Amino acid sequence: MAQIYDRVALIGLGLIASSMAHKMREAGLAGEIVGTARSAETRETVRELGFCDRVAETAAEAVAGADLVVLCVPVGAMGAVAAEIAPHLAEGATISDVGSTKRAVIEAVAPHLPDGVHFIPAHPVAGTEQSGPHSGFAALFENRWCLMTPEGADLDAVARYEGFWKALGSNVDFMEPDHHDLVLAVTSHAPHLIAYTMVGVADDLGRVTDSEVVEYSAAGFRDFTRIAASDPTMWRDVFLSNKDATLEILGRFTEELFALQRAIRRGDGDHLHAYFTRTRAIRRGIVEAGQDTDAPNFGRGR
Ligand code: NAP
Repeated sequence: MAQIYDRVALIGLGLIASSMAHKMREAGLAGEIVGTARSAETRETVRELGFCDRVAETAAEAVAGADLVVLCVPVGAMGAVAAEIAPHLAEGATISDVGSTKRAVIEAVAPHLPDGVHFIPAHPVAGTEQSGPHSGFAALFENRWCLMTPEGADLDAVARYEGFWKALGSNVDFMEPDHHDLVLAVTSHAPHLIAYTMVGVADDLGRVTDSEVVEYSAAGFRDFTRIAASDPTMWRDVFLSNKDATLEILGRFTEELFALQRAIRRGDGDHLHAYFTRTRAIRRGIVEAGQDTDAPNFGRGR
């Protein structure tokens, strides 16, 4: 694979950035990979792991001379990082992010950026419940979607960045940011909140002991516990930055849950059967679209 950018700066060196770096290395996509992280501890770990060619002490230092800069920090930290790097960005550089929500990131980042750079927000819909620089692997983005919300960015810069994500293994699609946030509220954010809640309920339930929960964990609950182990900072920021769409979906979810609750109380088996038949068809559609590669772990696409 040919080199696409001369120097790529990764700001934040956790699961997503380290996976990008591993794949960039494997496919030869960048002349140089420069990374930086907030803590000295993470920077030292990355030096030891060696997936960056250079680890800079600050974000300002990392972006100097980079033709691609990718913000890989929690969504709530994007604005502050953009403010820090803005005066140091090279003319003509592409600036992107990997945040799980898009409208809030655009509102936080765009006002800081100087004229002459190309801002192309993106979201790789791929992840695991692991975090930190040890957790990355080159195949993370393989056959997953990367959703881009460029809103009027330069077409040549967008095409180049699209090629970069395809070379990382992803399929690429374009969306309007608010639509992205609604889609992800349905497919990822609300399901995570439900998993967090279910694990909390099990923990609170005095009549079932913790060891029974762990020992007799059926597949569904085991998946919930895995998802509920996801990084608390990242997910706090996701919900706070995608408030409206998440609340809309949770409102609908609650209505449906009440309807199923009523059907169970009334012994309305027909209602339950019809409902489960409809949802089974949705699952089959996902399998046919090849998006179940991590089955039964529905948390891999975030
Ligand atoms: P991660 O493994 O937890 O790594 C986060 C990185 O951001 C770390 O290097 C951390 O630095 C740094 N950081 C944390 N808080 C910061 C702050 N306030 N200011 C500056 N740097 C800060 O995270 P990740 O899973 O790679 O996620 C990164 C981004 O990708 C998030 O925006 C998330 O929404 C998005 N995303 C995640 C997934 C997923 O499944 N994990 C999937 C798609 C998109 P230290 O190590 O020094 O603390």
